[in-house]
Amino acid sequence: MTLQRDASGRLHITSPLMGESLMRKTLLAETETEHLFRPMPNLAVIKIGGQSVMDRGRKTLLPVLEELVAAQPQHDMLLLTGGGTRSRHAYAIALDLGMPTGVLAELGKAISEQNAIMVALLLAPHGGVKIAHDDLVKLPSYLQLGILPVMHAMPPYGLWERPPEVGRIPPHRTDVGTLLTAEVLGAQRCILIKDERGLYNDDPKRNPAAAFIPEIEVAELLARDLPDLAVERAMLDILARARSVHEVLLVNGRERGAITAALNGENPGTRIYRA
Ligand code: ADP
Ligand code: MG
Repeated sequence: MTLQRDASGRLHITSPLMGESLMRKTLLAETETEHLFRPMPNLAVIKIGGQSVMDRGRKTLLPVLEELVAAQPQHDMLLLTGGGTRSRHAYAIALDLGMPTGVLAELGKAISEQNAIMVALLLAPHGGVKIAHDDLVKLPSYLQLGILPVMHAMPPYGLWERPPEVGRIPPHRTDVGTLLTAEVLGAQRCILIKDERGLYNDDPKRNPAAAFIPEIEVAELLARDLPDLAVERAMLDILARARSVHEVLLVNGRERGAITAALNGENPGTRIYRA
């Protein structure tokens, strides 16, 4: 490294990015690589749905945890938790009070974290430990120690959450947080445990005639612009431009064996993939 003074008098340490605004299009394209480093290529990142699993209580949650514990000897797993009904309640109050999106995102974080506390404690006999976002860099040692790590899935934008296109609900919630976690860790799988078989062309709870979609390419799904979705739209946008994660699996936590099948590389529900 050498210091160089440019024509304008700025001092630089010689590097491929020196003097750049970091906005020049050709420079941005040059930063692509064929060899993206994947820190944890054997990891399964698994979200336990808030509304869809946690809030259904012991009848739904305990069999899900049982299945995860049974899979623990064969799989490296990181569990994440959604917020669910209590997040929706907090959002409704905050909306009524005129709060901006960033405040809603901050509230959502605290509620997903409550669910992480409960899941970690329920898993305590099997090495359940609640971890914070900063602890992700310690994940390899946790897994070596037989720990089953549990983290809340809200991405850390908080008060700085970006306003959505329409309305005030934070667009980056726990499906997004789960995918981004899998992406940065270079995980092998990204699995969302919810309460339906997978994705339909409409909400199966409201529309019993909705047709099941076993797999779909993410750009095609975005183009279909369905009236309602089982995953956050922003998660689909992110999957479309992910560099490491190739697919997200939606599985039914109420169907015995679905989680195990997903961990083993099968598709028991819906596979949303990028081309
Ligand atoms: P989570 O609590 O895991 O974040 P959500 O309740 O936010 O789950 O989303 C899952 C729910 O989305 C399902 O229970 C289902 O009723 C609903 N849903 C809406 N649209 C669809 C769709 N097109 N396909 C499947 N489920 C859908
Ligand atoms: Mg949700």
